[in-house]
Amino acid sequence: MEAMPEQLIDPFRRRVDYVRLSLTDRCDFRCVYCMAEDMTFLPKRQVLSLEELQEIAAAFTELGVRKIRLTGGEPLIRPNVLSLVRGVGELPGLDVLAMTTNGSQLQRLAAPLRDSGVSRLNISLDSLNPRKFRHLTRYGNLDQVIAGIDAAVAAGFERIRLNAVILRGRNEDEVLDLVEFASQRGIDIAFIEEMPLGRIVEHDRRLSFCSSAELREIISQRYSLQSGTAPGVTDGPARFYQLGDSATRVGFISPHSENFCHLCNRVRVTVEGRLLLCLGNEHSADLREVLRRPGYDRDQLKMAIVNAVARKPERHYFDHGPEPQVLRFMNTTGG
Ligand code: SAM
Ligand code: SF4
Repeated sequence: MEAMPEQLIDPFRRRVDYVRLSLTDRCDFRCVYCMAEDMTFLPKRQVLSLEELQEIAAAFTELGVRKIRLTGGEPLIRPNVLSLVRGVGELPGLDVLAMTTNGSQLQRLAAPLRDSGVSRLNISLDSLNPRKFRHLTRYGNLDQVIAGIDAAVAAGFERIRLNAVILRGRNEDEVLDLVEFASQRGIDIAFIEEMPLGRIVEHDRRLSFCSSAELREIISQRYSLQSGTAPGVTDGPARFYQLGDSATRVGFISPHSENFCHLCNRVRVTVEGRLLLCLGNEHSADLREVLRRPGYDRDQLKMAIVNAVARKPERHYFDHGPEPQVLRFMNTTGG
């Protein structure tokens, strides 16, 4: 019997110590860059139960994973989500439990999430104009999300970061207002370049693309941006700058214009139990099949994870070709 490693090291000597775990492919929004308007979601039997999700989280922490981010779809619409959050938050060895949410449920759930062990929250916010916000999210209500952000600020998370995807001709004129909104609340904001995940017809991604360099230029016309953290383990593929003398950091996530694959420390698990080794490649392993085997034990799952990490690709190759290179939508990938 092979000895079980205590750390996950890939063939390019990168240590994998960060997992993004998707709790659902469903969402109460249909953001135009993330989903088609008419989506088919997974039937229940294909979706991991809360117990199976907990088991996966436990296996990863036993393999040296220190950070787990719960995501989706919209993680906070998963029924009984707080019981899972509490369970994952209690896993020995886990340093950071984070979540990415669209904010729609935070008025109700921000304080219980903080109490259950979530220390960092990323909240998506692409517009401060109610009509535009509704357009971009198709179903979202801006007032509800802003009240959710304020509830999160009041709940005292260690770190809150807004995530904004900027599309040319849609919300590029709101970049400064979004930065101002974050700085008024003393929270961070990251601008994410749109990624070619899933086939959409709502807009042409080649035309809507706004580069991080362009956004940085717009922001530096009003604010000083002090180059702070170089991209690294804690910030992942984001480059962060301190905004003037405020507490706010402004980040740029640039999968197109900059490539940080050599620093990649993460893998993703979809809610079907597919372990995705790279956002921009289809390399994966079926963990659900292992979990549902008769006579399952955790070492089988850990071995499946170790063997999969040994196949982690070196990098992604996103470009602006007419077809998406990865047909998965972001909601199934676990953003
Ligand atoms: N529903 C939650 C939310 O919106 O924050 C969590 C899941 S969502 C898929 C995670 C992040 O992915 C969001 O910040 C969203 O803006 C981003 N996202 C979705 N589709 C994207 C795309 N095609 N390119 C870049 N970012 C995308
Ligand atoms: Fe839902 Fe998040 Fe995708 Fe928007 S980005 S549709 S909120 S999963």
